[in-house]
Amino acid sequence: MIRLRERASLYAACQEIDSLPQAEVSSYESIEGGLTFEGFSVNQERWMRKFLEISGLVTERIKVFRAVGGVEWRGNGLVGGQYDTEIQEITLYPDAIAFIASESGQDPFVAFQRILTNILVHEVAHSSSPTLSRAAHVLVQEQKNPLHLSGFDTLYSSEDAERLHTITLQKAIQSLETRTYLNGYHRALAERVFSALNRGDQVAANQAFAILCVELEAIVIELRYLNPAHLAQVDRAMDRKLSREERATYVPYLEWGSDIVGTASGKSHQEVDAQVRATQAYIKATPFPLN
Ligand SMILES: [Zn+2]
Repeated sequence: MIRLRERASLYAACQEIDSLPQAEVSSYESIEGGLTFEGFSVNQERWMRKFLEISGLVTERIKVFRAVGGVEWRGNGLVGGQYDTEIQEITLYPDAIAFIASESGQDPFVAFQRILTNILVHEVAHSSSPTLSRAAHVLVQEQKNPLHLSGFDTLYSSEDAERLHTITLQKAIQSLETRTYLNGYHRALAERVFSALNRGDQVAANQAFAILCVELEAIVIELRYLNPAHLAQVDRAMDRKLSREERATYVPYLEWGSDIVGTASGKSHQEVDAQVRATQAYIKATPFPLN
């Protein structure tokens, strides 16, 4: 369990989320004509465009989807994808994904298609992060205005960004307190918070917690689209673990995921639900083309 003093400090950490990696860039005017794809086959590009259209996921903060060969390690994990806030580019690493798939114990092609689709949704979700949007609003207020975050302002009103970020904090804290995680990545991020707290390194703990918040938003949207039954299961587990007072204010993961996507795209939860079903039907009928 996280003690109260640490908990207050973790909340403070998210007020200082601008400690997340950031760098100045010269300028990035929006490219007319929408998304650019590089390094994918014609079939793959067509599949991804259709996928994004059906999903209704917000792509306003994405300019380029790029496939890059080779593998890149970060810490002791292989990088399957990333979203760069400076240049608004999503990079996917098919070789790394193929390696992860080959270790999965499942049919490597089927696993490749599944993992790539998960990473795609995860990275697209990062591009419309409520927490980054909130950080952008705060920085603008403080007249610090890093270019790579200023673009997030139009995605959420300052009130919506604040409201959604408050839920993010609540969910991140509850996951740490109950040690209930959505997947192995969530667990690994939580363990970084705990190990920093155990060494008494509050600065590292705050930073790990800020990263946990941003990642949790992307994980929940990934699962909202690709495994909603799992989210419902974790919601039931949380319900058993939380106190009565905590349960009264608990926002289920399933609802939170719909809330983020719906707020970013101006859609109701029912409309998001319909998009999720259409996306799942599309993947089932037409998995990501292998070439
Ligand atoms: Zn992520």
